[in-house]
Amino acid sequence: NSDNTSKKSGNGNLRSPICCILGHVDTGKTKLLDCIRGTNVQEGEAGGITQQIGATYFPTDNIRERTKELKADAMLKVPGLLVIDTPGHEAFTNLRSRGSSLCDIAILVVDIMHGLEPQTIESLNLLKSRNAEFIVALNKVDRLYGWKKCLNAPIVKAMKLQSIDVQNEFKMRVTQIVTQFKEQGLNTELYYKNKNMGETSSIVPTSAMSGEGIPDLLLLLINWAQRTMEEKLTFMDDIQCTVLEVKVIEGLGTTIDVVLVNGVLHEGDQIVVCGMQGPIATTIRALLTPHPMKELRVKGAYLHHKELKAAQGIKITAQGLEHAVAGTALYLVTPNDDLDDVKDLAMQDMKNVMSRIDKS
Ligand code: GDP
Repeated sequence: NSDNTSKKSGNGNLRSPICCILGHVDTGKTKLLDCIRGTNVQEGEAGGITQQIGATYFPTDNIRERTKELKADAMLKVPGLLVIDTPGHEAFTNLRSRGSSLCDIAILVVDIMHGLEPQTIESLNLLKSRNAEFIVALNKVDRLYGWKKCLNAPIVKAMKLQSIDVQNEFKMRVTQIVTQFKEQGLNTELYYKNKNMGETSSIVPTSAMSGEGIPDLLLLLINWAQRTMEEKLTFMDDIQCTVLEVKVIEGLGTTIDVVLVNGVLHEGDQIVVCGMQGPIATTIRALLTPHPMKELRVKGAYLHHKELKAAQGIKITAQGLEHAVAGTALYLVTPNDDLDDVKDLAMQDMKNVMSRIDKS
């Protein structure tokens, strides 16, 4: 089960990258998530976006459709993008295994009217400490005085429609914010001017209100992820899976909400998770995802799956999960594994979680 025994499937098939949203309070993290989920997209066109446990899945076809004006779709190789629904530090820090982040790429949201704020800097330090890739969404461009709305338009197109005053205010604010980032030791540049991605982080101006820049953000996220982390995104036989939340659900008992980052889980699989009172070895009773949107009224109703392939947000029911610890890895016990070894591995994570609690 260790990293070096992980087998690559070798046919170049890629899983979806996983994206988290971070940033200061009120910068528009939630609104941005709503916006990319397609509340601005006409009914029917929202096609293919699926609500998962703790995450929203955007198939590449959906992203291709929404970014067609940017004419850069030929390179989309991953099946889609999985965006974690809970913005902020907690989901990001919980989405980890043995110290490293399982979030492939993050959106750091900054309010263009406020610039860098205390939690922006905290988020930035967190991202740096985990070596996480990220893109800056410079949100609320529609609040520039005199902004003309251009619903869901690519940002360069929207910017061309603005008056000289708006364009000047925009430039001034971007320059200030680039300077603030530099003071934090980070080089940033508007993404369409950034010739040195990797050294220099990209800024995408957005409005979560009217959707300007959202196509750019989606395209950049997916392009950047697949360009820089092909190996990480290659499908493995081994699983990578993290417990995001432990929840009691009426009729189901204690369940765990997990993000399956890589690999496949099956009903009946033997698993080990880290518990408050020691490792929990159990068997997956059910693999659940929510019903499609329109059926959400059916209370407590989930879709059951025989197997689920990464990347996905999944609810797992099994016996003995009462003391499972959020933020720890879930391990699969295969016939070749020694159960005690897997239990030891699972409990390693407890130390990581405890040291994190100690530090904070
Ligand atoms: P969060 O705390 O980062 O999740 O921020 P929210 O998504 O809750 O947004 C905070 C406030 O800013 C809400 O009143 C939003 O409606 C507003 N807001 C968010 N994004 C935008 C934007 O792009 N433009 C404008 N004008 N308001 C926004």
